This record gives sequence, structure tokens and C-alpha cells, in this order.
Amino acid sequence: TEACLGAIEGASALNAFVHHTPDLARAQAEAADARLKSGDAPDLCGIPLGIKDLFCTKGVASQAASRILEGFQPEYESTVTRQLWEQGAVMLGKLNMDEFAMGSSNETSTYGGAVNPWRRADDETALTPGGSSGGSAAAVAADLCLAATGTDTGGSIRQPAAFTGITGLKPTYGRCSRWGIIAFASSLDQAGPMTRDVRDAAILLGAMAGHDPMDSTSVDLPVPDFEAALTGDIRGKTIGIPREYRMEGMPDEIDALWSDGRRMLEEAGAKIVDVSLPHTSYALPTYYVIAPAEASSNLARYDGVRFGHRARLDQGDGVTEMYEKTRAEGFGPEVRRRIMVGTYVLSAGFYDAYYNRARKVRTLIKRDFDDAFAAGVDAILTPATPSAAFGLGEMAKADPVAMYLNDVFTVTVNLAGLPGISVPAGRDKQGLPLGLQLIGRPFEEGDLLNVAGVLE
Ligand code: GLN
Repeated sequence: TEACLGAIEGASALNAFVHHTPDLARAQAEAADARLKSGDAPDLCGIPLGIKDLFCTKGVASQAASRILEGFQPEYESTVTRQLWEQGAVMLGKLNMDEFAMGSSNETSTYGGAVNPWRRADDETALTPGGSSGGSAAAVAADLCLAATGTDTGGSIRQPAAFTGITGLKPTYGRCSRWGIIAFASSLDQAGPMTRDVRDAAILLGAMAGHDPMDSTSVDLPVPDFEAALTGDIRGKTIGIPREYRMEGMPDEIDALWSDGRRMLEEAGAKIVDVSLPHTSYALPTYYVIAPAEASSNLARYDGVRFGHRARLDQGDGVTEMYEKTRAEGFGPEVRRRIMVGTYVLSAGFYDAYYNRARKVRTLIKRDFDDAFAAGVDAILTPATPSAAFGLGEMAKADPVAMYLNDVFTVTVNLAGLPGISVPAGRDKQGLPLGLQLIGRPFEEGDLLNVAGVLE
């Protein structure tokens, strides 16, 4: 814990931690020491972690990197973090992210972007750690904490993991409780571990997962011993390569990475088959209807009364002006864009044309995966991202849709509710890390982690 606290202080340029809790960390570390001495030491006893700012942590600022939650200190603890503290883990502080988890570069954060500890071989341009869990990824990659929590609605664990050379797992929808995690798109959001390697991901997932009566979508299934699933033996497993993921204009190095992954799995005894997921090309537009729709509804609660920031009002302003001014000041441009899109697609005149249509296409996307698994495929291998980390400011300047294209390989997994993992599996020509994604059967995270272990 002391080593991490020192490292965090020395790495303020990475802008990874946005709220520091050294006193709490030391108190938890001392309690962990006492537990270790008494012989009652669970796996995470004394392990210092960083927590994404989207998790409500009791008495500790929890702002979702938004100005509208300025000053908000929850009176309750999210289920996932409560379980971590019960396991003896230590909280170093809260980690930077895109505002309300909307973004792919961490640049929509009210604190400014987190910075990737990696640099291109031939220039010193500061790079994005990805998003929205960019602070989590930067902190783990720079050894500021032993592991971190992230959340993933459309790729926010897997894309930053790929950009920073770490492992990131999005569990099956329902595996981890969403209670106390600030909601973005409730039918897509899942918490998951961001770690140095697959074994750590297995251990951390075991502590984060489990049924919670406070979240009606959390599933009442036993939490298996994920670490015990890491046998390294994948002989006889069938791995699908989905042809629709071979995108037009895909960079050679991503193609080469994908082939390398395929070869590694084959050499380890897996059988490789081509699969078709025919509705893949509809995934991004479907996601960018459903996610903003749910976000516009979830974010209606920020009204200047119940949480955080309230605008200064003028003489004669009524409650409507208070809502309008508070929300205009409190939300950044990307969040406002999502609220407007979401409100539009849910409006009476367009509901059937957009939202209902998107829900139907979502079912077709899920069926594509169901069919592949029913045909005997155990896991699906794809690249995690269409490129390596890009420069800070590079994409934000472009049209917002260019940023959305980052999620092309990851959003399908959330729409289908499946587990997906990104593992560092190679480098680009500039020496930057690249990630491969494996997609698994629902609630088979153990098997998924086991296959992923072969790629690292
Ligand atoms: N980049 C995607 C978005 O902006 C995904 C974000 C996420 O997974 N939280 O919506």
C-alpha cells in the first residue's frame, strides 16, 4: 500500500487517480495486517486497488467524472466494492474515466483525460489510455495499483485494457451486481476486473461476482472458483473466427495479430472454425440508439435537487430554470449529445422507428451468437480494437462518430449480454500494445479465462 501511494504521488502527470484516499488505504492495510496475523486471510487481503469513479463508495467522492456530481459523497457502498473490502482489499482512491462512462478516450472527463503510460517508439505524443475506464487502465499499466475495477457498457473495460497492455474482463450480464454503480445504460452495464494478467482477473472476478437481491438483474448462480479453471489445457475446444469482423480497411498489424492468436490457440490443441455472425454490421447503430435511450432516462435524476451541483439562479427563476441551468452547466458536451439522441429516439413519434427497431435488431445479434454456440463453438476470437492507442486530442477533434467506431468489435458482446475478455497479445510497429478479444458462452467466465491464458 505504501509503495502504491508513493507511486501515485510520483505519477500525477498520468491523471489516473482523481480522488485520493491515503488515510483510508492505511487504515484498511493495517486491518489487513491484523487479519493476516490472525490467520484469517482471504485472497485479496491487503491488496491495494483503484476504483473507477463510477462506483459509489461510502463517504468518498463518487462523481462519474462529471461536474453535475460535484460534492456528492454517497451514504452507501456499491455491492461490488463492499465485497472487495470484505475480502480485505485496500482502496487507494478513485480513478479517472469518461463522464458517466460515455466515451472511448477518457477525454470527456471533467478532470481532463488520463494519459497512457506507453509512448510510440518514434515520438513523444501523449496517448489516450482508452475509455471509458481510462484511469483504471493507466493506473494498472503504470503499477500504481495491483488491479482496478472497471465497467463496460460497450467496450469500456476491454478497449482501455487493449490500449495499455493489460487484461480486462467484461463478465456476463448479471454476473456482478450493478447496485451502487452510477447507471449509464442499465441493460448493458457490467462491472469487471482490470488486471496485469489472466490469473489476477480470475481472482478479482471471484470477489466482485455474486447474486445480490438489491439488483433484480443479478443472477442467482453460484460463483465458481475461476482461478481453478486456469488449467492451461484447451485441447479439443472449438474456437470460432467470425468472418464479419474482418472489416474493410483493417490495418495489416491488426490482421497479423488476429492470425497470431489463431495460431497460438491451434498450437495449444484447439480446433479453429470459421463462423458467421450475420448481423454484426448493425451492432454499432443499434448500440448508439439503445445506450443513449437508456442514458437519457437514467440521467433524468440529476435535477439540481437530489445530487451534487446546482446552478446559481437569478431573481425570478423557477424550478424549470433551475433544471435547465443546472443540467446545462453540469453535463459536458458528449453527455448532452447522448441525452438529446436518447430523448429523440424515445419520443412518441420516433419510438417505433428507432428504439423498438433497435431492440429487435439486438435480439437478432444475440441469436447470431446463440447459433454459433449451439453449433459447438466454445469461444470466439476477434481483435479487441481496430487500432492501437491514438494521440490525445486526435480523435476528439474529428466528428463524434469517428470516436464511436472504436467500439466496433466490443459492442456486440454487451448487446448479447455475453462475457468478453481482452488480453495483450502483441505490439504494433510503434511498439504499442494490441489486444485480442475472446467472447464466451454466458456464465462460462472460467472457460473463457482459461482460453485467454493461452494468448498471454
Ligand atoms: N465507448 C462506448 C460509449 O461511449 C462504450 C462506453 C462504455 O462501455 N461505458 O458508449
